[in-house]
Amino acid sequence: MKRVYLSLGSNMGDTRKNLMEAMELLREKVHIDEISSFYRTEPVGYKDQDWFLNVVITGETSLEPMDLLEFCQSIEKEMKRVKTIRFGPRIIDVDILLYEGYESDDENLTVPHPRMKERAFVMIPLAEIAPEVLVGRESVIEIVNRLDGEAIEKVGDVDGEDK
Ligand code: AMP
Repeated sequence: MKRVYLSLGSNMGDTRKNLMEAMELLREKVHIDEISSFYRTEPVGYKDQDWFLNVVITGETSLEPMDLLEFCQSIEKEMKRVKTIRFGPRIIDVDILLYEGYESDDENLTVPHPRMKERAFVMIPLAEIAPEVLVGRESVIEIVNRLDGEAIEKVGDVDGEDK
């Protein structure tokens, strides 16, 4: 079994329900043991779209890296991801951030995820569940401490919304 870190995001329809559904589908092959808070985040890149709801999870899996990617993509498909614009609106997006003992610069599967270090919506939730984990040579918390990214607001967690 290998430990993996995944980032999930949604900005269409019932975003909270979409994240919950994606996590349920992931559980078939990933033994999820930690889930960050949920964050409302400003879109990066293409701005003319709704804000996202984002979460980061970790768990163990016996899937090989490419099989994990295919599994994540099958979930995106199953949830009828409508993808018309790059970085545009989506029902669900599942990215592989880190995979234990594995690094790759293959464009089909780049690990660590190539843009994770600049993305507050990835690094801030990741820091909640894995502050000391290394991304390259730096720890997650070190990267977060020098981030000057997009707006991000904690809005609740898997048990419910903040009051
Ligand atoms: P996106 O539109 O952001 O969901 O990007 C999907 C594309 O990124 C797919 O073609 C994947 O093969 C590729 N990709 C490369 N590295 C990763 C990664 N670490 N996690 C998920 N997708 C990746």
